[in-house]
Amino acid sequence: MRKTLAAAALAGALVVTAGTAGPVAAVGEGPGYGGNETVNTSILHTYDQLVAELKTQDAKQERLDLEVIGQSVKGCDLYLAKYISNPDNPTILYLTQQHGNEQLTTEGALEFIKHLGTGKNQGVLDGVNILVVPMLNPDGAMGDVDFSLEDYIASGGRHLTRNNANEVDLNRDHVAKVEPETRALHNNVMRKYGIDYMIDLHHQGAQSERDGRLVSGSILHPTTPNVDPAVLEGSKKLGAVVFDAIDPTGWGHLGKYVGGSAETISRNGIAVEYGISTLLFEMRGMSDHYREDYVLGQKSNGYLIKQTVTTLEATARAIADGSIADAETSFWDTLAEQNTRSE
Ligand SMILES: [Zn+2]
Repeated sequence: MRKTLAAAALAGALVVTAGTAGPVAAVGEGPGYGGNETVNTSILHTYDQLVAELKTQDAKQERLDLEVIGQSVKGCDLYLAKYISNPDNPTILYLTQQHGNEQLTTEGALEFIKHLGTGKNQGVLDGVNILVVPMLNPDGAMGDVDFSLEDYIASGGRHLTRNNANEVDLNRDHVAKVEPETRALHNNVMRKYGIDYMIDLHHQGAQSERDGRLVSGSILHPTTPNVDPAVLEGSKKLGAVVFDAIDPTGWGHLGKYVGGSAETISRNGIAVEYGISTLLFEMRGMSDHYREDYVLGQKSNGYLIKQTVTTLEATARAIADGSIADAETSFWDTLAEQNTRSE
């Protein structure tokens, strides 16, 4: 853990300015939790603040429609933000926070929605239909669950946890579809819209590395043997667009995620059931956890939110202008699987 102090000092010295997200720390050396940095949840949107922001954007943006797709175990409305210009256009779904303690993806999705209201993105909206389901698990995100979170690390007034209020992992419920959140997603999004692509956004532990350097995130396509080859190829192209947008930046460093083939996982199950090209993106570090090596201090929030926004904007643009068809997928053959840094 001695490394953490030096890493924190280094990150402080390596602040660069990038785009509208403000100062971002260099990736890989961003400070993790080591008892020396506060992990504070108070700067994250609460569920109520998220809903208020979505409604504000809905009132401002003519092309945005908000739909309630169902309710969580504790009765929170679950929202879908829709930009549907032309049913004949390809459609992409961005899904965040199936796991309630993985919130920077939702923060990024909200930024993305705000950007879609600006003039420069109207051309993109002419070429692709965009669906965003932010915070599928609001009960986990707000710590409003029927199990104890007393050993969780974060301060800031609320704890965030992976599972839903019934202590079920929503991302293992895509075959049985028992939980209300999963059912809402399948009945009122997956089966209702002709979706071509999906990116499922998550956070993983803070100590994963590729080629000896901590990753900013890791990606993976479907790995079930039952996936249609054309669907898998679409997933690999989606991953190529993400890799090319993130990995060459100073702050981005991506590994290949090591994930299972179970179809209870959305990356696999949704690809097989609906023929949707899916991509899993696991960002570095969680917003709260009981494990110190899983959480990441909020000094890293800037680049991780930017990583989400960049991912969403790059993929929407590549689908809208058709350039995703030319995406080079051979990098998947050489992209190293991430491993966990040993103490
Ligand atoms: Zn997750």
